[in-house]
Amino acid sequence: MKRTKISDLLKSPAFGTTVTVMGWVRTRRGSKAVSFIALNDGSTINNIQIVADLAKFDEELMKDITTGACLSVEGLLVESVGSGQAAEIQATRIDVLGTCDNTYPLQKKGHSMEFLREVAHLRPRTNTFGAVFRIRHHMAMAIHTFFHEKGFYYFHAPLITASDCEGAGQMFQVTTMNLYDLKKNEDGSIDYSDDFFGRQTSLTVSGQLEGELAATALGAIYTFGPTFRAENSNTPRHLAEFWMIEPEMAFYDLDDLTELEEEFIKYCVRWALDHCADDLAFLNKMVDPGLLERLNHVVETPFVRLPYTEGIRILEEAIKGGHKFEFPVYWGCDLASEHERFLVEHHFKAPVIMTDYPKEIKAFYMKQNADGKTVQGTDVLFPQIGEIIGGSVREENYDKLMARIEELHIPMKDMWWYLDTRRYGTCPHAGFGLGFERLLLFVTGMQNIRDVIPFPRTPGNASF
Ligand code: ATP
Ligand code: MN
Repeated sequence: MKRTKISDLLKSPAFGTTVTVMGWVRTRRGSKAVSFIALNDGSTINNIQIVADLAKFDEELMKDITTGACLSVEGLLVESVGSGQAAEIQATRIDVLGTCDNTYPLQKKGHSMEFLREVAHLRPRTNTFGAVFRIRHHMAMAIHTFFHEKGFYYFHAPLITASDCEGAGQMFQVTTMNLYDLKKNEDGSIDYSDDFFGRQTSLTVSGQLEGELAATALGAIYTFGPTFRAENSNTPRHLAEFWMIEPEMAFYDLDDLTELEEEFIKYCVRWALDHCADDLAFLNKMVDPGLLERLNHVVETPFVRLPYTEGIRILEEAIKGGHKFEFPVYWGCDLASEHERFLVEHHFKAPVIMTDYPKEIKAFYMKQNADGKTVQGTDVLFPQIGEIIGGSVREENYDKLMARIEELHIPMKDMWWYLDTRRYGTCPHAGFGLGFERLLLFVTGMQNIRDVIPFPRTPGNASF
């Protein structure tokens, strides 16, 4: 008989029909006469309760129905009074597809997140991680749908790059050379001419530069793919391998950009509220009691536009008023997350889009303002998370861009193709990067970025 998914079955239960479900045993309890088995098949956070009359089933078979075992169950779908769900199944036939002995690490509820990272191959079978990974899927769909409906093209930037000046972080090298026997030049440096690409290559830290090429041809594009940064920052907000969404738009100015950033995040959060209600309700109950309120708040609240200079003034006022920060505040400083969180959570009580940063603390490609001091960079700052989006209007003027490159001594010899966009039909354009896992941290209420990606890569850890 055809298998029914538990999500479909609970959505509109056809009481009185015979159904077959397949899934894994979450718990089993009962008496000498009857067993209640909570079965989950991953299609929803909700289990279906299986009622097994022990008089009808073989004792040997019942012994194999343990936590974690995989079952196929045929039975009558009936209204339930005690299971917490609308429906339950009165089993007529049970097959054990896969037994599971008592060495199974997920025997009981309430394991710590740290422990579950050590069994990352099994943690998707817990309620919490099932919820997180279903939400992860829905957020990816939200992102593609948002951009597709706005007429943006999904563009694929390469993961292997030969440019070393993207400037966003430390890079992982890609090589097929024999590391035990490296060919050297006379000056002792490594000779890459025999390497696979005939030159030094790395994994990309951002698809932006290629995205800019595409935007100046297709008008508006977005990338959505893995990104690699070998930054040794062991924080709950950084991964060595993470997914980034990078839209890039021709003919966008700063106002267009911040408007898109706000519209985009709100769309994604609203999508989660609409499509992941059961999983969010679970996380709100078990992981973070403020979650739903925070999500609804973000959807309803206008984001504050805050020039950096004004932000510094507010922070200085706060210090005068007696507020203590660990790190100093002065015009030109790179804001620490305590400063960002003060502005977002304490001062405005709303997401903040900070704009017009000092050029010294931002990347070379950001559009320079007429004041000669600031650039049109934007960071979207969120409660709990801090920076969730980094973006900017791009400097489209060839001479101004080159001047900045020379000032910063950026090695541009491999970047002629990027500069060509400014030589041939340059146009005003803007874009941003959203860390997918930062968005997921916000949407799920999880505390550590390692717990919103299936198999986290962090310093010292590439297991599974
Ligand atoms: P941060 O200051 O938080 O390290 P960044 O300024 O280096 O971030 P950008 O280069 O602007 O970040 O990258 C765009 C977005 O990518 C960030 O806003 C953030 O959401 C995400 N991001 C950056 N680095 C990481 C990382 N190591 N792990 C996960 N997400 C990241
Ligand atoms: Mn940074």
